[in-house]
Amino acid sequence: MQMGGSKELKEQVLDKDLCTVCGACVDLCPYFKAYNGKVAQIFECDLTQGRCFAHCPKTGVDFEQLAQNYFQQPYRGDALGFYRRITAARAGEKLGSGQFQNGGTVSALVTMALESGLIEGAVLTDSEGVKPVPRLVTQAGEVLDCASTKYMAAPTISCLNQAAGKGLRNLGVVGTACQLTGVAQSRLNPTRKEGFEDPVALTIGLFCTWSLDARKFQDLLADRVDTSTITGMDVPPPPAEIFVIRTHNGTVEIPLPEIRAIVPKGCSVCPDMTAEWADVSVGALEGSSGWNTLIIRTEKGEQLVEKAVSEGYLILDAFPDSSLENLTLGAGNKKKRAQEKADMEEE
Ligand SMILES: Cc1cc2nc3c(=O)[nH]c(=O)nc-3n(C[C@H](O)[C@H](O)[C@H](O)COP(=O)(O)OP(=O)(O)OC[C@H]3O[C@@H](n4cnc5c(N)ncnc54)[C@H](O)[C@@H]3O)c2cc1C
Ligand code: SF4
Ligand code: SF4
Repeated sequence: MQMGGSKELKEQVLDKDLCTVCGACVDLCPYFKAYNGKVAQIFECDLTQGRCFAHCPKTGVDFEQLAQNYFQQPYRGDALGFYRRITAARAGEKLGSGQFQNGGTVSALVTMALESGLIEGAVLTDSEGVKPVPRLVTQAGEVLDCASTKYMAAPTISCLNQAAGKGLRNLGVVGTACQLTGVAQSRLNPTRKEGFEDPVALTIGLFCTWSLDARKFQDLLADRVDTSTITGMDVPPPPAEIFVIRTHNGTVEIPLPEIRAIVPKGCSVCPDMTAEWADVSVGALEGSSGWNTLIIRTEKGEQLVEKAVSEGYLILDAFPDSSLENLTLGAGNKKKRAQEKADMEEE
């Protein structure tokens, strides 16, 4: 793992426009803040080694170190990362109904983990109007407030930093690959901070091909949608080439080229589609509306899923071979594109 301070973070990530607003550098100290879809350094700091730099997923991640620590294996660069098994999943009756993005697997797992005391709090992403807002949830009944995907880059991990700073432990975190890579790095205590205790007990990853710049997205919506009426958003599978916004008054479709134009540059160098450094990772199940793809990566993830199934929070089904082929191809292509882009950036 490379080391540096806030000066290096600013030069190597923020000034190069590679930040994807994951929040891993925010609220560790008084100097990095997130505001309306952007992260900024508000005061200079002269430390030559900082957690901000060491936790950032864009400063040069040591995949070998993460692989050895979280999976006790050498890093292989496989398209889907390390995993035990992949299954189709959706929320069971015990959860009740909610505005789930797909099958509600994420909400089901978080709810069960809170209700059973496996975790004492969960770092989730809620919204205020259309804006994504990190939220620490401590009651199972609050989890459904945060259901559904806000397709914008969100500083979710700032909420983990705040909670850990207050001494909270045994936390669950739901996040995309960049957010959870930041978390995975932070849990190794790379700056050897004295008295460090890992605050994280469970990580649930979300598949992610890209996110949107939250400010630019709000501008793009301004003259097309009354944002107070939005109930959800979705990206239908190819060949649709549209981004769909659901509102109380019907749906609004935006051509995907307009949407791709507001994806942060940092997403183009992101090699991870399936949030590889998580206990379990969850995405849509192509061709099966109302179902998720669930990748079980760790023993803890396996135990969580088994318990959720036995207690009626989760229903599993077979994962089709064709879906595995497509997922592997999509994730492998993302890695290749990211490597090519990173090579171009270095030239
Ligand atoms: C930016 C983004 C891009 C995605 N792209 C893909 C994709 O290309 N392919 C694919 O298969 N799946 C993608 N997903 C994942 C997918 O949209 C669903 O989140 C996933 O399938 C889980 O569905 P669910 O019904 O179990 O979730 P729910 O039970 O509805 O729970 C959703 C959870 O997502 C969290 N969340 C919402 N918005 C954000 C955000 N901006 N950042 C971090 N966490 C958030 C909430 O905390 C909530 O707990 C993406 C998710 C995000 C956030
Ligand atoms: S990518 Fe995350 S950790 Fe890196 S500068 Fe942006 S918000 Fe901070
Ligand atoms: S594509 Fe990668 S960098 Fe961009 S939001 Fe998704 S996980 Fe983060």
